[in-house]
Amino acid sequence: MPEATVTTDYTVNTETGLLSPARLCLSPNRDARPPDTPVSLVVLHGISLPPGQFGGTEIEALFQNRLDWDAHPYFGEIRGMEVSAHLLIRRDGELLQFVPFTERAWHAGASNFRGRSRCNDFSIGIELEGEDHTPYDDRQYRVLPPVLQALLQAYPGTSAREIAGHCDIAPGRKVDPGPAFDWLRLYDALGEHIETDIS
Ligand SMILES: [Zn+2]
Repeated sequence: MPEATVTTDYTVNTETGLLSPARLCLSPNRDARPPDTPVSLVVLHGISLPPGQFGGTEIEALFQNRLDWDAHPYFGEIRGMEVSAHLLIRRDGELLQFVPFTERAWHAGASNFRGRSRCNDFSIGIELEGEDHTPYDDRQYRVLPPVLQALLQAYPGTSAREIAGHCDIAPGRKVDPGPAFDWLRLYDALGEHIETDIS
């Protein structure tokens, strides 16, 4: 299968909240952020539907409330769930946007980042098509850093220190993007020096 074209040149329009280039698939699962709540966090997630299976269109369907709940036993367990993320990066590197960054996506659930709860209010959620124990795809690691760089540039309240995993903001409840996600590889690509605390 040919690789999706990977660009390293992403632009965020802060008026519309849209990233370009990305395939726009608007989700109904979105609403207004609270007033005067700038973006100050990016949350990374991992998702696959059914779990462990890649390449289908079920994630898009879930985020657009058109998943056939009867098509798989697992879908029955999440029947009626209304969720979304701002972005999805599929295994082949394809980038989809479901919610403008100006609006609140429904990805974090009960969560806390540095003492602030309700992370959906002030975060951007990025789903990586994946599974906690399966290495993420090289093509995703090529798309994610330039996307993050565009976001950090567009939203001054964010830096590489304001990128967290779902596991970090909802410990004990969530483990994604899981041990398979290579944070060092991401930080390397972002050109961030990681300080090692040896005390
Ligand atoms: Zn998650």
